Amino acid sequence: MGEEKLKEEDFEYQPCPLCNQKTLILTERETEVPYFGKVYLFSMTCNNCKYHKADVEATEQKEPVKYEFEISSEEDMKVRVVKSSEATVKLPHIATITPGPASQGYVTNIEGILSRVKYQVEAAKEMEEDEEDKKKAKNLLKKITRITWGQEKQKLIIEDSSGNSAIISDKAIKSPLKVKALER
Ligand SMILES: [Zn+2]
Repeated sequence: MGEEKLKEEDFEYQPCPLCNQKTLILTERETEVPYFGKVYLFSMTCNNCKYHKADVEATEQKEPVKYEFEISSEEDMKVRVVKSSEATVKLPHIATITPGPASQGYVTNIEGILSRVKYQVEAAKEMEEDEEDKKKAKNLLKKITRITWGQEKQKLIIEDSSGNSAIISDKAIKSPLKVKALER
């Protein structure tokens, strides 16, 4: 692997879109993701209201895309994933991460995606008062652990109308995403 070129720029004391105070720190970073290309990583954190937003954007224009991947081994945990805030991440029968203003963009791997989902299920389980639903969450956590260990197969689907997402593996099936006319 060649050396990773990294450009980083900080912009401090920018106006915050949420509280309007000049307490926002904006960080822009450029990095190279093998087999995907150059990406910009943005991160905004407000010191006043704790607003946080992160996103990832390819430097070149990308087409709406869909990736499908079958997680089947522990080795698959290392597969790189680029997830923009526009992406819909589906783990059928487990969870769906939807796009929107609260959605974050990041470069991670499959293990990172699973641990984020696990964290959400754990948080929901803590809040849950119904015993039956608590049990369901508990079983879901066990399922996620088995997938992490390569003991259970699981499909992972990422759809991104901005094209700024990817699953970087020979095993991943890439196809053009049909964006419905209404969504434009
Ligand atoms: Zn703020």
